[in-house]
Amino acid sequence: MTSHMTSPDVSLDSMSRQLLELLEAQDPDVARILRDEADRQATTLELIASENHVSPAVMHAMGSWMTNKYAEGYPGKRYYGGCVFHDEVEDLARERARKLFGCGFANVQPHSGASANIAAFMAMLAPGGTILSLPIKSGGHLSHGLKPNFSGTFYNIVDYDLDAETEQLDYDAIAATARECNPDLIICGYSAYSRTIDFAAFRAIADEVDAILLADIAHIAGLVASGVHPSPFPHAHVVTTTTHKTLRGPRGGLILSDDEAIAKKVDRKVFPGSQGGPLMHIIAAKAVAFGEALTPAFKTYCRQIVANAGALADALTGHGYRLCSGGTDNHLMLVDLRPRDADLTGADAEAWLETAGIVVNKNGIPNDPRKPMVTSGLRLGTPALTTRGLKEDDLRAVAGLIDRVLDASGDPGVCAAVREDVRAMCRRFPLPH
Ligand SMILES: *Cc1c(COP(=O)(O)O)cnc(C)c1O
Repeated sequence: MTSHMTSPDVSLDSMSRQLLELLEAQDPDVARILRDEADRQATTLELIASENHVSPAVMHAMGSWMTNKYAEGYPGKRYYGGCVFHDEVEDLARERARKLFGCGFANVQPHSGASANIAAFMAMLAPGGTILSLPIKSGGHLSHGLKPNFSGTFYNIVDYDLDAETEQLDYDAIAATARECNPDLIICGYSAYSRTIDFAAFRAIADEVDAILLADIAHIAGLVASGVHPSPFPHAHVVTTTTHKTLRGPRGGLILSDDEAIAKKVDRKVFPGSQGGPLMHIIAAKAVAFGEALTPAFKTYCRQIVANAGALADALTGHGYRLCSGGTDNHLMLVDLRPRDADLTGADAEAWLETAGIVVNKNGIPNDPRKPMVTSGLRLGTPALTTRGLKEDDLRAVAGLIDRVLDASGDPGVCAAVREDVRAMCRRFPLPH
């Protein structure tokens, strides 16, 4: 069965084609869904700041023999036999992670960024301990203290906030809050913050109040690994991250440290503290992704991500939008839609843009008067488009496409016309698989 219903816009690598043929014969329902998703990714512009397109090597390492094995424990100390090659691949992943981030210890087993935070919090503080963090409404992550999350359930959360004028971190104000609440742990690192983080300033605050500093670099890990954003080392006691955002690896988590005592605690809290068997196929793919991130090409890629974000930000400002904090230093930006059109909401913008083939997420802006499911803003990021090969001029063109859709309030005719322009642009920049 070799019927290829994938649109002519989609060029798949040979392993992907084989997978679809196999599924076509065995499970046409799933085959159809995967084909549609491959088609969607190939023919739309992905501007969600936390997403990326992995290489064929990373993608296919995930779908490999390594998934068949239980490997509870760590290399050399497993609870199951037959782990020789699992030990090898986990050691390789750990070694590459240490090299990539310039630190002494890496735990590559966390299933996700949130899982990495669970284990790191358990390692660094007792239940009920006080965490000082930026709330989700101001750009933090739900695992940093949102009430219904484990973090808000089991710890005492105190918020710091961005400066109301500059919409940037105010280190003096954070220090003052730290002196008041005397936290056990301070978190820096965010999901929707477009400016450089001063890790040394955070460490000075942590030292003053005798707190642990945790840097969650989930979004900026690729930029950190390539030297495009300053490193949390040697300032942070413990560093958590995802592996699938700017780092462009498989969906997963990672915990790093330069302190042997902390590393030992972290290992115990990942397994058996918060997880069972590691996802060894994902760990194999992490090793592949870390290998890619150690190449000079990855550094070039990360520089281009930031250059592209700057070009997109300037162009959107030119079209009359306001960027929170006035701009971006990294891969993302928060766009305040109201100066362009007082009635325009993030929810409408997201829905209209999707019909035109431009994929974004609505996002609250600092002190957003609208509800989280409506919002006044969009969060836009350039990691995925940069993977496709788009450069500054192309991002300026993307800003033009976005503005055409929003200026027309999602008019179906305009969206359909932009959809065709988006398809043409996607054909010029094919995906890696
Ligand atoms: C994305 C993100 C996470 C969580 O990642 P998941 O893999 O979705 O659990 C954690 N922290 C920050 C700051 C993030 O942006």
